[in-house]
Amino acid sequence: MADSLPLCPECSSEHAYEMGALLVCPMCGHEWSPSSEAAEPADGEGEGERVVKDAVGNVLADGDTVVVTTTIKVKGSPQGIKAGTKVRGIRLIDPVNGHDIDCKVDGFGAMLLKSSLVKKA
Ligand SMILES: [Zn+2]
Repeated sequence: MADSLPLCPECSSEHAYEMGALLVCPMCGHEWSPSSEAAEPADGEGEGERVVKDAVGNVLADGDTVVVTTTIKVKGSPQGIKAGTKVRGIRLIDPVNGHDIDCKVDGFGAMLLKSSLVKKA
């Protein structure tokens, strides 16, 4: 008995059987692919869990220390935030105009940065 096969997502019949890569339900005729069925929820749609990556693809997390990879212009500051500036204790936020990191930069105070302009230290 193939008791490991999933129930039909349409009618919850337990009589589904494998036909090639698909699963087929003889009760309602529904055909589906077990692999795509399993992969969908893992995509994280509507989970509210957002992955923020730095300039080179490292995943960032709250509390990380990052290094600014390029000089960032700051209003009211002649030189801006220089490339190589270390920023401690970042906080990931919902993007504001493309800025998704909330942090404090020495000498500048609270700032919003773009994850694409920093690198995990
Ligand atoms: Zn069915």
